[in-house]
Amino acid sequence: TPAATHSKVDLLIIGAGPAGLMAANWAVSLGCRSVRVVDKRNTKIFTGQADGLQCRTLEVLHSFGMAQDIVRQSNHMLEVCFWNPVDGTLRRTGRIPDTIPGISRWQQVVLHQGRIERAFLDRIHAQSHGEVQVERAKLPERLDVDTDLVESTHPDVYPVRVQVRQLSEDEATPSQMGKSTPNGLFRSALAPDDTPELLSSSSSSVSGTKAGAVGSRQVIHAKYVIGCDGAHSWTRKQMGIDMAGEQTDYIWGVLDAVPVTDFPDIRMRCAIHSANDGSVMIIPREDGLVRFYIQISSTSDGAADAATKVDRHNITWQRILKAAQTIIKPYRLEISERDLHWWTAYQIGQRVASGFSLHDRVFIAGDACHTHSPKAGQGMNVSMMDTYNLVWKVAKVLQRQSPRSILPTYQAERRRVAQELIAFDHRFSRLFSGKPQAAEDAAREAGVDLAEFRNVFAKGNRFASGTAVEYGPSLLVGRGGDATELGDGTDVVGPGALSRPELSAEGCGESRIVVGQRLNTAQVVCVADARPWQLVDWLPSDGRWRLLLFCGNLVDAAQRPRIEAFARYLETQLLPRYTPARHDVDSVIDCLTISSTPRTACELSDYPAILHPLTTKWHRPGSASAAAGDVGEARAKSQDYWKIFCDDESYHAGHGRAYEKYGIDAQRGAVVVARPDGYVSLLVALDDVDRIDAFFDKCMLPAEMHLPFASRDKPSGAVD
Ligand code: FAD
Repeated sequence: TPAATHSKVDLLIIGAGPAGLMAANWAVSLGCRSVRVVDKRNTKIFTGQADGLQCRTLEVLHSFGMAQDIVRQSNHMLEVCFWNPVDGTLRRTGRIPDTIPGISRWQQVVLHQGRIERAFLDRIHAQSHGEVQVERAKLPERLDVDTDLVESTHPDVYPVRVQVRQLSEDEATPSQMGKSTPNGLFRSALAPDDTPELLSSSSSSVSGTKAGAVGSRQVIHAKYVIGCDGAHSWTRKQMGIDMAGEQTDYIWGVLDAVPVTDFPDIRMRCAIHSANDGSVMIIPREDGLVRFYIQISSTSDGAADAATKVDRHNITWQRILKAAQTIIKPYRLEISERDLHWWTAYQIGQRVASGFSLHDRVFIAGDACHTHSPKAGQGMNVSMMDTYNLVWKVAKVLQRQSPRSILPTYQAERRRVAQELIAFDHRFSRLFSGKPQAAEDAAREAGVDLAEFRNVFAKGNRFASGTAVEYGPSLLVGRGGDATELGDGTDVVGPGALSRPELSAEGCGESRIVVGQRLNTAQVVCVADARPWQLVDWLPSDGRWRLLLFCGNLVDAAQRPRIEAFARYLETQLLPRYTPARHDVDSVIDCLTISSTPRTACELSDYPAILHPLTTKWHRPGSASAAAGDVGEARAKSQDYWKIFCDDESYHAGHGRAYEKYGIDAQRGAVVVARPDGYVSLLVALDDVDRIDAFFDKCMLPAEMHLPFASRDKPSGAVD
């Protein structure tokens, strides 16, 4: 065996799909440079696979400053149309909004996965000044964890060792490129896994011992490893973790093409059920493309037997098109081979990993821990949200801002989401079954008849938007607040929204603050410059905790002392406890004030000074000046004018009615603690500082213990 080079890294990411790229992007956004990403392939995805982006994903992308560009390129999906057989012919039987109005500032869009991966790669490059790049054609061969060291938080302890080998161009090229079944599925669970083959050819073609030469090996000593290596996950296998669930017999055909048709709703998302010939889902896409999902066969609902079983390898694009043409009759549908962009036929498994972590040092995320059908447009979204949930926690532990005890919340929070997703996918798949009978059964099972099919669909829409995710109580999520203490109407619903049966299109348009859910946005007006803002624009993904002080009415004689007492608590207790000396006062916990006092009823200077402090990093997130300057010892401190907002009329954008939307009493206010990923940890009264103390006491370490991120290590030539 040739000599291996050794290097150390804080965070090693295996796999550069959506989950891995989100992880790397988040890590570099937090300032972590000691991060490496390895992928066994030499290319990203070019065609096919995922395209739908949920509202919650767009919110997160926006918090990285990435949403506008992605939304500009995307196709916007505004309406879902239902087509059913009526009096012997196909008719439009209903329309609903694709995204339930009011649940988010964003509506679902579709854009090809490859473009989303491109956007991540560009941002990772820009944020890390080129230091962090995907290292392609690198195959992990061995993973060891030193269990004696896993609980150590000493900065020089690297308990995980991963050996990687540089593959040749040939080895790293997916064999399924080009227009053949299972075209483009080289990443999915459907494609045979070539990792064992690559591993067994391990001594092949060593062309040198220099780092980067084909066949050369590196041992990466890592503090933390995240396996984002897709459905066949090598990392998962090293961890000894199983996937529980079932392989279904549903076979679906997918076509991406520019069709010629007289079907009136071809630019709408459509669910079309024919009387006897199955169903088709239409997803209009960017650049004039349309995606058709057609179920070719199902045996898992018991309706078919082995005789009707279809081998997906025998499916051709012409067959999928023919099925679509039959379902859509009497409308015409033509696709020429020239305008066929991509197609495939796939079979789905609905599985969840039994665990998501090993000693809270090695984690898995994305398709590595859950697989299901692609129809509901969930996989890429949920995969990215997994690492969005995980990486800030790892970063906080690396910086010794938080204890390791916060890490188990990753599995607790995300495994539950994965299980809900599988349950949802199971229901959703049946509703889209090609057999009207199965759709009917599924609808009946859900307590409705077929006439109410679209209501079931609408409920699914709420789940599919990603905004219903609710994390249960933990070190990072307090229990709901006390409504009587907080004033009228404050919603303090406990966990369980994912499975709440009453979720429906109606009643979801509010933004009430729910502990454990993400904070929705509301328009507020900046007191200093009268500009209306979406509140979440001031909650970018930069790793800071947010304390949103809904201070109530500053000019109310009874309220003012409460606000002043809270400001004193911030200035003399909470912030000094967690903010290292010489750092900006808002560098760990950022306090934003939202006042119910009209803008012109008081001056900025009437608010306690700690609420609009002198800082160096006061630029608007995402602005050119903010992007140019790192946290600035070098930059002069200046007044932060963008910390105090009011719930008031604006000149050009109306009134946001934020207090009303959030359900907060306009006189007495409330305090919201939001995690760095935007989920609400606490909702308490202004006087309830003990609960804020108790909360941070468990999930944060005092400022004296904090460490800066390690710098990037250069591989050494030491012999193994
Ligand atoms: P992957 O995208 O599979 O990425 C894994 C990465 O790890 C790859 O780069 C791979 O090369 C690398 N890798 C694998 N093994 C190793 C190894 N041993 N060593 C190193 N690297 C390795 N999702 C949606 O949200 N919306 C949709 O509309 C949608 N439509 C879909 C349509 C189809 C037809 C299919 C098949 C999927 C669809 N999905 C959709 C699902 C979505 O594509 C996946 O859920 C998503 O790509 C998962 O991301 P990931 O990063 O976890 O894994």
